[in-house]
Amino acid sequence: MKQRTFTMLKPDAVKRRLTGEILARFEKRGLKIVAAKTLMISDDLAKTHYGEHSDKPFFGDLISYITSGPVFAMVLEGDDVISMVRKMVGATNPKEAAVGTIRGDYAIDTGRNIVHASDSEESAEREINLFFDESEFCDYELPDEDIIYEEP
Ligand code: GDP
Ligand code: MG
Repeated sequence: MKQRTFTMLKPDAVKRRLTGEILARFEKRGLKIVAAKTLMISDDLAKTHYGEHSDKPFFGDLISYITSGPVFAMVLEGDDVISMVRKMVGATNPKEAAVGTIRGDYAIDTGRNIVHASDSEESAEREINLFFDESEFCDYELPDEDIIYEEP
């Protein structure tokens, strides 16, 4: 079933010039970029986005981290894309993330784990609406969907 997920390259990924490399992984997998932008996250947006963690001891550090520079935010579309992108991203603690995942290949510390991805249909819808307006979505066909999918 075609789904959309919210994915974000955190400030350390952008500053380390990993945007292209990470995007290439999503593109090569066959996923479709339907919206994307670079932005600085405001304190308010950061606190809303990570609201579920507001009572955690790391919340202050998390808000400082995510607002410390530009993020590259995107909406990816594909079959079962929410769980697929979570698997590509890897475990929250990069030291436990499998080699071959984004965190397992490029990151070391949990507090500098370079990428965010929605963890459920509910969070995907919430996060997509938090970061993107309807006018920012691109409606287009990928010419190779009939090669990538058994039933496009
Ligand atoms: P995710 O869904 O894999 O990103 O992980 P969570 O939703 O549990 O946490 C959100 C983000 O908070 C993580 O990606 C980390 O950047 C950060 N985080 C989570 N746990 C810790 C922690 O124990 N210490 C620090 N410094 N940051 C954490
Ligand atoms: Mg999470």
